[in-house]
Amino acid sequence: MQQASHSRPDNAALPRSGARTVPAICRLCPAHCGVLATITDGRLTEVKGDPENPLFKGYTCPKGRALPELHNESNRLLHSQKRLSDGRHVPIPVETAMDEISAKVRRLVETYGPRSVAVYTGTNGQPYPASASIGNAWLRALGSPMFFTPNTIDQPGKQIAGTASPHRY
Ligand code: SF4
Repeated sequence: MQQASHSRPDNAALPRSGARTVPAICRLCPAHCGVLATITDGRLTEVKGDPENPLFKGYTCPKGRALPELHNESNRLLHSQKRLSDGRHVPIPVETAMDEISAKVRRLVETYGPRSVAVYTGTNGQPYPASASIGNAWLRALGSPMFFTPNTIDQPGKQIAGTASPHRY
């Protein structure tokens, strides 16, 4: 979650132990509802609607209120992982992962050209708004036009084609 600007106490000034509740936004979907997040001894323990948020007036959906379960889920991916040839995943330092990926991408581009490298960002790009822009810029630097999203691969393509075509699908 991203801290929202608000007239209530500055998050940095709040104690790190015990329970504290801070205004924030839910980034699970593009609605970005205003929420109140309670952190107890460093763990997110409650998320509820912020009644003082002028736009949402305390609204959240069940997914937003379930954010503590998501944050505290024991299977949550918290570190870089490498898939081994037998299918297992093992932790890998992010610097090592970047070096290995970089070497593979370089080999692909040298062997097959820039179009052999593509990026797809799905709905989960929403929590990290910069990811699509960074992915796009990286592809442009490589010289590849192969940037895909749900808009290019999923159902919206049919609607666009249907609107443009005299023969409806
Ligand atoms: S609370 Fe629900 S509707 Fe609001 S941003 Fe989160 S997921 Fe979206």
